[in-house]
Amino acid sequence: MISVSAFSGKTVVVMGLGKSGLSAVDALVEGGARVWAWDDSADNRKSATQSGVMLTDIYQEDWGDIETLVLSPGIPGFFPSPHPIAEKARENGCEIICDVDLLARSNSEAQFVGITGSNGKSTTTALIGHMLSHAGFDTAVGGNIGEPVMGLDALGGTGTYVLELSSYQLERVPRLQLNVAVLLNICADHLDRHGGMSGYVAAKKSIFERVVQGGKAIIGMDDQVCRGISLELMVNSTLSIQDIIPISANGRVPGGVFIDGTVLVDDLENRQTPIVDLAKMQNLSGRHNWQNAAAAYASARIVGVEGTVIADALSTFSGLPHRQEIVRVIGNVRFINDSKATNSEATAKALASYENIFWIVGGQFKEKSVDINSGALSTVRHAYLIGDAQDLFAEVLDGKVPFTRSGDIEAAVYQASQAARAYGEPAEVLLSPACASFDQFASFESRGAVFRDLVETLS
Ligand code: ADP
Repeated sequence: MISVSAFSGKTVVVMGLGKSGLSAVDALVEGGARVWAWDDSADNRKSATQSGVMLTDIYQEDWGDIETLVLSPGIPGFFPSPHPIAEKARENGCEIICDVDLLARSNSEAQFVGITGSNGKSTTTALIGHMLSHAGFDTAVGGNIGEPVMGLDALGGTGTYVLELSSYQLERVPRLQLNVAVLLNICADHLDRHGGMSGYVAAKKSIFERVVQGGKAIIGMDDQVCRGISLELMVNSTLSIQDIIPISANGRVPGGVFIDGTVLVDDLENRQTPIVDLAKMQNLSGRHNWQNAAAAYASARIVGVEGTVIADALSTFSGLPHRQEIVRVIGNVRFINDSKATNSEATAKALASYENIFWIVGGQFKEKSVDINSGALSTVRHAYLIGDAQDLFAEVLDGKVPFTRSGDIEAAVYQASQAARAYGEPAEVLLSPACASFDQFASFESRGAVFRDLVETLS
């Protein structure tokens, strides 16, 4: 665990006592701060008390001496409506940070690699962590990937933190200094929380404001928004052109890392060195994963890992659960859990990765409209609709793809399995919902786990 001494003798408010809030409280107390800890949920307050945290009703206290609020990234600062505690902090002139900023203050000697983007953050983060450990580096992986940063090991000057950073976290990290900042891609997501697309893009691109002098900015060139940001960085930032590293899964990018056919090419030193054939990497299927591989490769090279060692690490990467995870094979049908695909862009990538798909889709839809074009649907043999978004998908798929309103995942798995096994050719039953899970499940993880359990019981 990490201790933060920067607040010794001061009082800090911690609002939101989930996993990361609780570890922030521990780290602050360990470093000699007084902590006012609170959560609006009675359940979270109860479990905090059970783990020894003393609660303070921060709505009732006088905030006169408070300078810092550690606000859980999930709690809105401004949109869709400001949380009253965020407003109280602003009225009192307090800075609002999150746990990642505490890590930056307490371990400033270490190197930091930060990864953001609409899709592929966790995969890329895990991949970079895997490459660095494979090369024998002292490294720790955390952040939005689900590992609270204050629970990581304290690394000294030779260590490297690899942090997945959400748009929410990026708004609360004024002290974070990144040696490598990665922006993979941008599509519409979380717009309500950022007051619209421009707010979301601003949060994402702010990752480059966190780059230290001499640090590198790695940017995906496969979507228009990111291409625009890369131009902006060239003309209007403190970064020099050599410090902006383009990556692409779709075409050559001079001075960067790209995929030529299926081969990852290192052009960081303008030598166009072929490194590895990604088609051979079992756990990185789909061109979207090659974008992640290119970004991870560039990051690891910048941190100092040899290309050949990275190639070796790519072949031993085991993939992450709930991201195109093959959970079972029955005959010539593969059952694939892509529960983490919570927006249409992520799902479109999964649909492009297979040929005969029996597709389970639906849940709580987050976007304005379904951004999956007819071409992307050409691999779908039948769709099974679940959850709140059934009507929406019925409308989108009507006349394009045969579908069944299955209602829930139990029925969908059963129906899709029957049809895929009767299909006669190699096929996939793919859970790739393009929606959040909260209408029927506690989280995307529990949705994926239910899918896995249902598939396990198929005979
Ligand atoms: P994030 O952490 O950004 O949500 P993950 O690595 O967890 O990203 O992947 C989430 C989903 O997004 C996966 O199920 C996969 O289908 C899709 N995905 C992964 N990488 C990319 C990418 N680079 N571009 C688009 N979609 C991707």
